[in-house]
Amino acid sequence: MSVLVVGSLALDSIETPFGSAKDALGGSAVYIAAAASYFVNPVRLVGVVGGDFPSNGLAFLEERKIDVEGLQVIAEGKTFRWSGRYHYDLNERDSLSTDLNVFEKFDPLIPEGYRKSSFVCLGNIDPVLQRRVLDQMEKPRVVICDTMNYWIERKKKELQDTLRFIKILILNDSEARLLSREPNLIRAGRVIRSMGPSVVIIKKGEHGALMMTDTLTFSAPAYPMENIFDPTGAGDSFAGGFTGWLARSDDLSEPNLKRAVIYGSALASFCVEKFGVEGLRDLTYLQIQDRYREFRELSRFED
Ligand code: AMP
Repeated sequence: MSVLVVGSLALDSIETPFGSAKDALGGSAVYIAAAASYFVNPVRLVGVVGGDFPSNGLAFLEERKIDVEGLQVIAEGKTFRWSGRYHYDLNERDSLSTDLNVFEKFDPLIPEGYRKSSFVCLGNIDPVLQRRVLDQMEKPRVVICDTMNYWIERKKKELQDTLRFIKILILNDSEARLLSREPNLIRAGRVIRSMGPSVVIIKKGEHGALMMTDTLTFSAPAYPMENIFDPTGAGDSFAGGFTGWLARSDDLSEPNLKRAVIYGSALASFCVEKFGVEGLRDLTYLQIQDRYREFRELSRFED
């Protein structure tokens, strides 16, 4: 099944207690597409960059066989930039700056050949742009969406308009609390489902993920890791692995949604082992399967 990914392509400046990077390749669409590319090929990407986007960024997308027909390059513009600092507790991060640059005037034009894509993953960008993407699609089978505190704080009403058209929303615990105004995550999930999505997945960093539907609450562990190098992109890698598996299997049953959560968690665990997108550069399908099995063993117990 075909997968369309729309989101940010970024130059990230990141500080963690273990090191720092300036203008590293990042952005929600880059992480999502790279993670999904281990399950389906080619993943279609729509986004925008400026003339300063480095050629090794394009080379990375090419290596992962990502279709960039929908990538707009604004030669005189500047690429989106984000900078963030992680605390000693890597679940805590501060966004230091967000420079929308070419995203300020971005009009996501979906190429004709992408409009019938079955699986659409709307990465973290302005919810108005997410909605504009959906207006151009021809009856996608599933729309999966991610968002961030930045947009919940600034464009909550627009986000709620977009959510009416979303089947699966993926967000982290603090974002879920912010969007629902509900401290308890089970209740937050219910409030968010009343906004549109029938499946809500709340990521809890190193504490795993919680998937909720009307009939299901599924709690997935996180992979116990001794060496987390850089958590940037973990959420997007989760969304990419989740979407990629669903598209590859083309099965939306509850047992398969659970498998997709585990594949998402597996891709997120690979992502954080290295800086920036490096953890997603050259995995093998076998490595992913092995980690999937390790996840299964993590919380299996006998009667
Ligand atoms: P994650 O760690 O999965 O939450 O995603 C981190 C990525 O999101 C980084 O590579 C950033 O470039 C990107 N990002 C940060 N803030 C925004 C924003 N406001 N809009 C779009 N993308 C963003």
